[in-house]
Amino acid sequence: METTKYIWLNGEFIAWDEAKIHVLTHSLHYGGAVFEGIRVYETAKGAAVFRLRDHTKRLFYSAAVFKMKVPFSEEEINSATLELLRRTGLKQGYIRPIIYFGYGKMGLNPKGAPVDVAIACWPWGAYLPHEMVDIKVSKYMRIHPRSTVCDAKISGHYVNSILAVQQLEGSHYHEALLLDFDGNIAEGPGENFFIVSKGHIYTPPLGTILAGITRDTVIKIASNLGVCVTEKILRPEDVWSADEAFFTGTAAEVTLIRSLDDRQIGNSGKPGEISQQIKDAYLDVVYGRDSRFETYLSRV
Ligand code: PMP
Repeated sequence: METTKYIWLNGEFIAWDEAKIHVLTHSLHYGGAVFEGIRVYETAKGAAVFRLRDHTKRLFYSAAVFKMKVPFSEEEINSATLELLRRTGLKQGYIRPIIYFGYGKMGLNPKGAPVDVAIACWPWGAYLPHEMVDIKVSKYMRIHPRSTVCDAKISGHYVNSILAVQQLEGSHYHEALLLDFDGNIAEGPGENFFIVSKGHIYTPPLGTILAGITRDTVIKIASNLGVCVTEKILRPEDVWSADEAFFTGTAAEVTLIRSLDDRQIGNSGKPGEISQQIKDAYLDVVYGRDSRFETYLSRV
């Protein structure tokens, strides 16, 4: 992978290669870490982090689910992130803060283990680098909301996502779509899901999904464009009869979907008008070309 010069670890900037942990780090064994994925964009006025404060807020919400006593405030993490970008010189790429139970205690209850915090950043291009993607309903069910706290971004949840992604290896599908315990559409392994039908946008309600920050941005963008967005329970049949579909996520940004389970969505197999408008508008927002969203940018 591409690297940068420094990683911030527990309040210090250390060389990338020196950012190491003990093999008996608690969260490595049991999946009890919480993290974020954030992007920094090179705008006309310099590098800016998109919705940094909202990502940090969600990070701390996730940490609270595990009763983690985080030895830094949200403000300190925001400042450390911006300082890391200044020191590494990264203008465009990905930022990964993680809070985890460190070394010093084994056994399931993490009480007594140190709470460690790291922030890394590196250059990272498009996550799904295709004009449109072909997706498949996963054989894996999205984690049940009564098995865990679905809207926390917990490392262990990503076992479910990894398996869904691995299932598609060697196939022509670019990404998976996970259904919930009722067979309703939940989300992608790392993306929220939307369809467009007769000029109206629909997306699954919160409950079994991560409350995506890109999902929230796209809902606001759609409203600015005068397109109505409704949260609605969606089944695969609704997708086949839809005109357009797309994924949203910090990594995936707005990724247009061509087919589900080899059935083309819409008539043309080409980017749909509304999805393309949303995608273009999203890029305008993150690159600072839409002044209505200026407060979402944290200037480096
Ligand atoms: N769902 C899952 C499971 C994810 O991992 C992500 C990526 N964080 C998303 C949705 C999209 O969330 P966001 O827009 O906040 O990146």
